[in-house]
Amino acid sequence: MSKTPITVAYGDGIGPEIMSACLHIIQAAGAEIEIETVEVGEKVYLRGNTSGIDPEAWESLRRTRVFYKAPLTTPQGTGFKSVNVTTRKTLGLYANVRPCVAYHPFVKTKHPGMDLVIIRENEEDLYAGIEHRQTDEVYQCLKLITRPGSEKIIRYAFEYARRNNRKKVTAFTKDNIMKLTDGLFHKVFDEIAAEYPDIENEHWIVDIGAAKMADTPEAFDVIVLPNLYGDILSDVAAQIAGSVGLAGSANVGEHAAMFEAIHGSAPRRAGQNLANPSGLLLGGVMMLVHIGQPEVAARIHNAWLRTLEDGIHTYDIYREGISKQKVGTKEFGEAVVQRLGQMPQTLKPVSYAAGESIPPGTAAAVRQPARKETVGVDVFVNWNEAGRDPNVLGERMKALEGEGLKLSMISNRGQKVWPGGSAETFCVDHWRCRFLAADGGAITHAQIVNLLGRVAAAGLDFIKIENLCTFDGQPGYSLGQGE
Ligand code: NAD
Repeated sequence: MSKTPITVAYGDGIGPEIMSACLHIIQAAGAEIEIETVEVGEKVYLRGNTSGIDPEAWESLRRTRVFYKAPLTTPQGTGFKSVNVTTRKTLGLYANVRPCVAYHPFVKTKHPGMDLVIIRENEEDLYAGIEHRQTDEVYQCLKLITRPGSEKIIRYAFEYARRNNRKKVTAFTKDNIMKLTDGLFHKVFDEIAAEYPDIENEHWIVDIGAAKMADTPEAFDVIVLPNLYGDILSDVAAQIAGSVGLAGSANVGEHAAMFEAIHGSAPRRAGQNLANPSGLLLGGVMMLVHIGQPEVAARIHNAWLRTLEDGIHTYDIYREGISKQKVGTKEFGEAVVQRLGQMPQTLKPVSYAAGESIPPGTAAAVRQPARKETVGVDVFVNWNEAGRDPNVLGERMKALEGEGLKLSMISNRGQKVWPGGSAETFCVDHWRCRFLAADGGAITHAQIVNLLGRVAAAGLDFIKIENLCTFDGQPGYSLGQGE
């Protein structure tokens, strides 16, 4: 078998110790890999590179397309970019796969039967990083949910379920409130679920779904989520399974993949041979499956399960009465190596032989774009006069009607305040003024530009606009409360 080149970063804090232990196990198990070591993280930041990753490291990553990465320390303060976020975005690693498993009775857990996989969208949602302070009082962060992004992650979740013999995929969204963004994710989920009749599917509103997951995680199998919900719930799931020190994760895209532990660099534990290498090791197991060495992956995973069963535990999972021997990072690694070839006796053994269970990412389907028509515009203004009386702003805005545009409503933080607002509604200095075509038809860019000209000439401070469009005749904008 020819060796597969992989890029390895030893990382910061406890990183080098746990990476050494993991590579020792992986090599002892007979993995056919060729390691290219790169330096990323703290040392690179401190050399003045605010991205934490040098061009040579990118070269290696572009060559190998497989990144095995120990945790990194992101220095405090603004200006430093997280290597994780940069790597995910640059390499298009859209799927974050995080198995969360309980190892009862060997590791203390509140949920002995827990065995679920969180699949988190990694690239979009509120993490696009598009934020603005728009007025004295108001800050905005754009939540971007895209059709191709949703299609890719949801298809990935169903593919993962099929290849790993999982029975059900659940989506969590908040589409009762965010009808367009989360609504799209839910809609795409239903569409793709229909292509996988062999796999059960269900949707939960994220709040009650999260509560159910924390209370009865056994009720779930694979959960697919947009970025923010996934970020939060994957940590909750790992924690309630037993320990953040035990979970590994894969970040997968069409062109490359990155494997890591879910925890950070735990600087207070660094250099003391204390840290648990298990999370990074399970990340390595996923990597071996991904690069087509499933037998080696299973050998390591089963030996690791046997080590847990034998009560050989690092400090973080050591419990009097359950554990037999408290060991350091290195000794734990040796214990796993000694058990290579052995199977767990109580815990369920793993087998990765059938199919590629960490599938590569795929591209979204090419679609015919919908017919788009602009039918109005929301003009956002920063306004702080006349005691913020919406009727005063209404009168001023109404005076700017013309050229076929008519003011239809004004809202403040999404609550309609004109016409017919409520005196009790609290208003900030940020107002959305909706203009629609007087004849209910389409409008032109020129009409919008001229309207903005009139707004500016009237001494009103517009801070942004959003065009109101229909797509195949369906409104592509929320109608707002009270309408
Ligand atoms: P952390 O995960 O490093 O530590 C949280 C707690 O868990 C600490 O008490 C720590 O001692 C313990 N812990 C973590 N991993 C352990 C292990 N393998 N064995 C035993 N105990 C373990 O989180 P933090 O303290 O919030 O962050 C520290 C640094 O790590 C920060 O600079 C942060 O930016 C970085 N970080 C990096 C990644 C990554 O590279 N993927 C992820 C999260 C945090």
